[in-house]
This record gives sequence, structure tokens and C-alpha cells, in this order.
Amino acid sequence: SMASPALLMRVVASAYSVAEKAATIVRNVMSAGDLGIVEKAGPNDLQTKADRLVQMSICASLARKFPKVTIIGEEELPTEDVTEDLIEDGHCEEILKKPCPAQYTGIKEEELVIWVDPLDGTKEYTEGLLDHVTVLIGIAYGGKAIAGVINQPYYNYEAGANAVLGRTIWGVLGMGAFGFQLTEAPAGKHIVVTTRSHSNALVNECITALNPDHVIRVGGAGNKVIQLIEGKASAYVFASPGCKKWDTCAPEAILHAVGGKITDIRGNSFQYNKEVKHMNSAGVLATLRNYDYYASRIPNTVKESLVP
Ligand code: AMP
Ligand code: MG
Ligand code: MG
Repeated sequence: SMASPALLMRVVASAYSVAEKAATIVRNVMSAGDLGIVEKAGPNDLQTKADRLVQMSICASLARKFPKVTIIGEEELPTEDVTEDLIEDGHCEEILKKPCPAQYTGIKEEELVIWVDPLDGTKEYTEGLLDHVTVLIGIAYGGKAIAGVINQPYYNYEAGANAVLGRTIWGVLGMGAFGFQLTEAPAGKHIVVTTRSHSNALVNECITALNPDHVIRVGGAGNKVIQLIEGKASAYVFASPGCKKWDTCAPEAILHAVGGKITDIRGNSFQYNKEVKHMNSAGVLATLRNYDYYASRIPNTVKESLVP
């Protein structure tokens, strides 16, 4: 008889279904028309009803199945009972059938940390830039991002009524990443993708120093890493604090699973143990290929302005 699937694969298979439920909530809140926008730190740091409901849905659904796993979500919410309609108890059978990489088969619940960004790209969501939005569920073990799920609820929304709306990308280190077509960026071109709504002088100084052929300004950390793995951009460069561990954990696992690299602007890797500071204070530098090309061109003045 088959041995029961490893914990990591059960968590990823559940996170996949939980992220699909989350995407339905994101779309339903938008179609209902009342976003319930709340300012957190200021007008560029927003929370909507979708951020709140999705976080409740993801955290309660995963906690019910995996009670000893540490789950850290972006939103601070009052502790109230989550209504049963928000719970997803399904899982993706196809993921469960795949063998767990040998180095992860012995992982116990207590050793996992799940970083949840219920809605990445909230500012863009409120402005109708719907394909910038992603739902991020990142899974960490030993301080490292080892698996992740990125759901893009409005993938294909401009492709016409017959196109299937939304997609789920997932990956595990040592296994690969699935749900998209890995594509190289145009050879010999330097295309930088960066923030749309959180620019400042340092962010722009850093990009100028890289002398790119083209700069793409879009919302979301999840969305920007998707641009890297689909060959739309060659580097994600963000020389500023602002991005948090729940923004980078799932994208990092997927990018690393396909051979890319993500660090802060100074070249330090991110840590994802439960005690870690949430803020990625020294920014983000990520590529699918040619990491060293970009890292070597970041000015020292920019690096010195960002303290990890
Ligand atoms: P962006 O590239 O601007 O979409 O940022 C990626 C992620 O980091 C999003 O979740 C943003 O909300 C977050 N972020 C980046 N900069 C800031 C900031 N200055 N204030 C609040 N959140 C930020
Ligand atoms: Mg975010
Ligand atoms: Mg968010």
C-alpha cells in the first residue's frame, strides 16, 4: 500500500485549494462593489474587505487542518469566530500524488511557518488594475522559503469572455514550479520591474544606476516575480523598505524552485523563521537569470542607505 503523503505535500495541496477559495472571495468582493477600504499606515497602505475575509479564510482553513503549524498573516484582525462559509477543506489531488523531495519528508507541523499575504497589490485592486493582484501563501522550514502558492485571481481578465479567469502557480524547492510556462526574458535586454505606488528618490536612483532598456512599474511582489518567471522582466529592483516577509516568501520559493534568486538590495538572503522581523528593510533584488549582473551594478550609496 502507498505510504501516506508527507506533511509538506499535504500542506501545499491544501494551500492550493485554499488559495483558489481566496481568489473567489477576492472576485466576489469586487463584484459586490463595496470594498470597505481602511487606511493602515496611510493612503498608500490600504486594507479592503477582501484582505480581511481572505486572511480569515486562509488562516482558519489551514489552522484547522494543521493546528501546530505557525501561520503569520499580514492583516491585524480582531479575534472573532470565522464563519463556516469561509472554510475550505479541500486539497489538490495532483499535488498529493507527487513525491516529496527527500530532504523534506521528515518535517513536522511544529517546524513549519506559513506566511500569508491575503491580497498582494491592494492599492492596485482598489484602482481596478486587477491583474496586479495575487494571493500569496509561502511555506518556510528552517528559516528558508521552501514551498509556495501564488494565485492570480484576475489572470486573463482582459482576454475575453471565453478565457478561464484566474490561475494558481505553485512550487517546491527540489521539485520545480507549475501552473505557468517558464519563459526567458529577451536576451541582451535589461528590463527592470519595480513598484508602481511606493516609489521614492532612492528607488529611482537605484533604477537609473542600472541603466535599463525599459522599466515596468506594476503593483505587487507576487505579480513582479511572475513577470520574472514569464520572461516579461529581467530584474525586480526595489531599493526601499516596505515589502514584508509575507510578500516575498511564496514568490521566493517559486523563483528559487526554477533556478532564480531573490535577496535584499545588499545581497543578503531573507529569513522566514517565526521570530524574524516582518519588514524587508533593505529592499528586494530578484532575477530568474544574471543575478550577478544586477547585483554588481547596485551603487554602494544605495546599499548603504538601506539597513537590514
Ligand atoms: P509594490 O511593489 O509597491 O506593490 O509593493 C510590494 C508589496 O510591498 C506590497 O504588498 C506593498 O503593499 C508592500 N509595500 C511596499 N512599499 C510599501 C510602503 N512604503 N508602505 C506599505 N507597503 C509597502
Ligand atoms: Mg503584499
Ligand atoms: Mg496584502
